[in-house]
Amino acid sequence: MTRAGNYFQCTFPHPQVLFNQRGKSAGTARLQTWQLRFNPVLLSENPQAFLNEVVPHEVSHLVVYERFGRVRPHGKEWQAVMSQVFGVTPKTTHSFDVSSVQGKTFTYQCGCDEIPLSVRRHNKVQREQVKYVCRRCKQPLVYRPTP
Ligand SMILES: [Zn+2]
Ligand SMILES: [Zn+2]
Repeated sequence: MTRAGNYFQCTFPHPQVLFNQRGKSAGTARLQTWQLRFNPVLLSENPQAFLNEVVPHEVSHLVVYERFGRVRPHGKEWQAVMSQVFGVTPKTTHSFDVSSVQGKTFTYQCGCDEIPLSVRRHNKVQREQVKYVCRRCKQPLVYRPTP
């Protein structure tokens, strides 16, 4: 924020920073509430790349919102802030290994394919609350435990 302030010759308020981003997303910026959320798991697994890429990425979203209002999230304003203020390549997605934050899945089989079901869906099937059928072949999905 200080760097952006120096660049634009103004003062940006400090955002609230939270470390409760879940799932495969590395971080998100909440423009209205001026908050940044970061994924604590991906941060601890990729500390340097996280600081180099994810933090400027999300900070740039706030800076762009403050300076330019509602423009395209990864449009030319955002790209310019990324490269000119932070000196980083404006990439829109991270390339971290997400295996530890990916929800576990259970493999099911129909007549034509293998289909991963989430833990929640798997539990429903096992409790016989629901049966799923394949949209393509219309066969019921059968649990195939992987060895
Ligand atoms: Zn973004
Ligand atoms: Zn099928």
